[in-house]
Amino acid sequence: MRLIAYVGIGSNLDDPVAQVQEAFEELETIPDSVLVARSSLYSSKPMGPVDQPDYVNAVAAIDTLLSPEELLAALRSIEDRQGRERGGEKWGPRILDLDLLLYGKKKIKTADLTVPHPGLHERDFVIIPLAEIAGNLNIPGRGSLQSLIKLCENHSLKKLITGK
Ligand code: ATP
Ligand code: CA
Ligand code: CA
Ligand code: CA
Repeated sequence: MRLIAYVGIGSNLDDPVAQVQEAFEELETIPDSVLVARSSLYSSKPMGPVDQPDYVNAVAAIDTLLSPEELLAALRSIEDRQGRERGGEKWGPRILDLDLLLYGKKKIKTADLTVPHPGLHERDFVIIPLAEIAGNLNIPGRGSLQSLIKLCENHSLKKLITGK
């Protein structure tokens, strides 16, 4: 059965706006899937070590027949193709980060995959772009997206480029 998965996109190296735009193009090529919405692009302050560039963030909606594991593998392969290096410090700078935020209404907890993404509910750079493309969502275990927006402190988010 088809369902909608949401993917969080982040970059803070090598022309982050271009990296995020390229990521949207790559998401369009995932098999058995259709990219159905792109949020605006936002800039945000780094969550990890502060001595790194600001991030560019966005969220995509994908109508997919893939399993969550297949989708995660497709996201990793896009990260790799855009030159993501692994093994740096936690929340350190990166060319591209693609997180599986939501997979329909499913809750998943395996060694490799936690869905909803564990940071989703408290990250302004996820909640705000997600609400732009799917304002009426419920986050399994966390309540409505609208209630999360009210709780979420917007520290630094700035809209850079309006989405479509
Ligand atoms: P955070 O997950 O807090 O945003 P991060 O994106 O910097 O941090 P990564 O180094 O990109 O973390 O990924 C670490 C591991 O997280 C991956 O190996 C992956 O297996 C695991 N993971 C668990 N749940 C998810 C998910 N929903 N989406 C993407 N990766 C996930
Ligand atoms: Ca496709
Ligand atoms: Ca992440
Ligand atoms: Ca990640």
